[in-house]
Amino acid sequence: MPREHLLKISVSGVRGVVGEFLTPALALHFAQAFGTYVGRGRVVVGRDTRTSGPMLQHAVNCGLLAAGCDVVDVGILPTPTIQIYVEHIRARGGIGLTASHNPAEYNALKLFNKEGQFFNHYERNELIDLYHQSDFAQATNAEIGHVTHDEGTAKAVHIDRVLAKVDGDRIRRRHFRVALDAVNGAGSVMTPGFLVDSLGCRLDAIFIDPTKVFPRIAEPRPDTLGDLAALVQRTGAEVGFAQDPDADRLAIVDETGRVLDNDDVLALAVLRALAVVPGDVVVNLTTSSAIDDIALGFGRRVYRTPVGEANVVETMQAVGAAIGGEGSAGGVIFPAVQLCRDSFTAMAFLLDLMAETGKTVSELVAALPQYVRKSGKVAFEHGRLGGLMQALEEGFPEAEADRTDGLKLMWPDRWLHVRASNTEPLLRLFVEAKTEASAEKLYAMAWGLLTA
Ligand code: MG
Repeated sequence: MPREHLLKISVSGVRGVVGEFLTPALALHFAQAFGTYVGRGRVVVGRDTRTSGPMLQHAVNCGLLAAGCDVVDVGILPTPTIQIYVEHIRARGGIGLTASHNPAEYNALKLFNKEGQFFNHYERNELIDLYHQSDFAQATNAEIGHVTHDEGTAKAVHIDRVLAKVDGDRIRRRHFRVALDAVNGAGSVMTPGFLVDSLGCRLDAIFIDPTKVFPRIAEPRPDTLGDLAALVQRTGAEVGFAQDPDADRLAIVDETGRVLDNDDVLALAVLRALAVVPGDVVVNLTTSSAIDDIALGFGRRVYRTPVGEANVVETMQAVGAAIGGEGSAGGVIFPAVQLCRDSFTAMAFLLDLMAETGKTVSELVAALPQYVRKSGKVAFEHGRLGGLMQALEEGFPEAEADRTDGLKLMWPDRWLHVRASNTEPLLRLFVEAKTEASAEKLYAMAWGLLTA
């Protein structure tokens, strides 16, 4: 892997392979820059369960204290829970130590502003300038702040906010039989209690030990959730939930043991959210058209953004959206709880839909607008990207084109989206159509143009 991909200082903070690349010294300096930027006051610091977490948290605490901030250490918590807590206690900001679904050897500093949201475009640029200039606030002995601990409040606040938007009694009366795989991540400390105590579920769980390493590939997707699928089948669970290590993403296994397409997970959440709150929908360009069909049924509008949670969130804020997310990435963003990806909202929404309709998960999915999706990766040589995109656009002159993130070509009943990977010399190709034959044909034509 090229060296620059082992450390990245960008969009949501600093991310890299711990050791040679993401070092305690780097974390300390970045935290000191963060403390300088947000100003003196309280900064919330929490983390997922990675081995490097405590080491990096000490470095981050050190940098924040050096900048004159007070640190509120919330320990191991899901990322959305940390974000909610930042806003709840009116802190200056927050830092989450998690590399999300990246492998265990990675870690990252995720940065949150005083609203508990990811830094926006302007804040990020200002902070990165400050970091590069190394012009940090330096507390004198008399100005050094304190570290306090609060590991309980955040969970309760988060769960209360989720329960306020579903019919908790209706869910609890059903005593759903539920399976869980928390990948021994941050969800381990909160999800079992949420499902059992707050939602009355009968729970069979695997990988809920936050002291153990990730037992599977961290990203929850069909090929990594075999153990959960087997658990669902063995226990007769009505649904299986899988989180990523920082518990912002959710994957769902239906009652037959089949892992749902992420676009369907989002579609079910949109269906629930639009029934309970006003507002429009924001999704990225590769999210299924099923979202447009659902929104139309509620008389709502769909806004499309470039791929990336920060892009979706910024547009959601601008338009006051009811719900948003990225179908491709398994994220449900529901601002009434918090403007961030939240697996807890997604779980509660699904159980609420099941309780209200009496339908199984597979029946709920079968009732969604049906599309056929296909995706793949095309390797390309650096320098050829522009030419390939142009060839693609010229190959489909009758399509409507959107160039805000790679190239999306749209027809009334199908679309294709091609964008360059941020981390590898690859093009990602996504196709969606109403029928299998139409999707296959469009995919083959696009593939031919991109590999000619
Ligand atoms: Mg995550």
